[in-house]
Amino acid sequence: MTERPKFVTPKGRPSIRKKPTAPNPDMFTGVRPPKGPKTAYYDPECTQCPRLAEFLTETHKTYPDYFARPVPAFGAAAPKILIVGLAPGMHGANRTGRPFTGDYAGVLLYETLHELGLATAPESVSVDDGLELRNARITNAVKCVPPENKPLPDEIKRCNGYLATELAELKSVRVIFALGRIAHDGVLVALGLKRSKFAFGHGAEHALDDKRVLVDSYHCSRYNTSTRVLTPEMFRKVMARACEIAGLKSDERI
Ligand code: URA
Repeated sequence: MTERPKFVTPKGRPSIRKKPTAPNPDMFTGVRPPKGPKTAYYDPECTQCPRLAEFLTETHKTYPDYFARPVPAFGAAAPKILIVGLAPGMHGANRTGRPFTGDYAGVLLYETLHELGLATAPESVSVDDGLELRNARITNAVKCVPPENKPLPDEIKRCNGYLATELAELKSVRVIFALGRIAHDGVLVALGLKRSKFAFGHGAEHALDDKRVLVDSYHCSRYNTSTRVLTPEMFRKVMARACEIAGLKSDERI
C-alpha cells in the first residue's frame, strides 16, 4: 500500500492532522458567552425570523450557558477570503458563539486554515481560546441555529440582508469561499446576481466582477467528511486554490 503524502504547510510545518474526535456537547461551562456589539451586518438581538427567534428562546431555557443568539462572523477585519457557511450548529457555533466552533463541522475547516497559514491554531474551541485568523474571515448565510439544521427558504432570504451588507462593507475581499449550495446561492442573491448563470460545484470558480471570485466547496459537515464526499485532500486543494486566487503571498500567512 502506498503511503499517503503528508500535508506540509507553506512554511514547511508538517500537518498535525489527527482523527477528528467529537467535541463533547455536554461540555457545559456554566457561563453564557457574552454577546458582541451590533454592527451594520450583525444584530445580536435580531428577531426577524419568528421561528428562529422562538427556537433560540427555547434553546436558552434548555441550555442556559449556550450562546443561543445570532452568531457573529469571526476572523480578520479586512480579509482577502470570506468563507461563507450555512448556519450555526446546535451544539457548535450556537453553543460557543463562534462559527464552526465546538462541533465536527469545524474540525476540517480550522485544521485546513492552519495548514495554509490562515489560522494561528488548528482547532477552534471557544471565543476566548486566543485563536486568530489572518486574511480570512468566516460568516454564515443564516446567523441563527435552525431546528433540525434546516433553515426555511424565507429565513435564508431574510438573513440575506446581513450577508449583502457584509459583502458590501468588506472591500478587501477577493475570494468568497462558499461552503455548500445554500451558501453559494446566498452569495449570489446578496450580490444581486442570477443563480442560473453560476452553477454550484465543488472546486468551481466564478468571476463575479472585476475583483471578486466565488469559489465553491462541498460543505465540510460531518456527513460529507465521514462519507468521504469531501476528503481532507479535496478540501485542502480548493482552499489552497482560493489562497492563490486571492493572491496571498507566503509572508501574508501565519
Ligand atoms: N457551524 C457553522 O457555524 N456553520 C455551518 O455551516 C455549520 C456549522
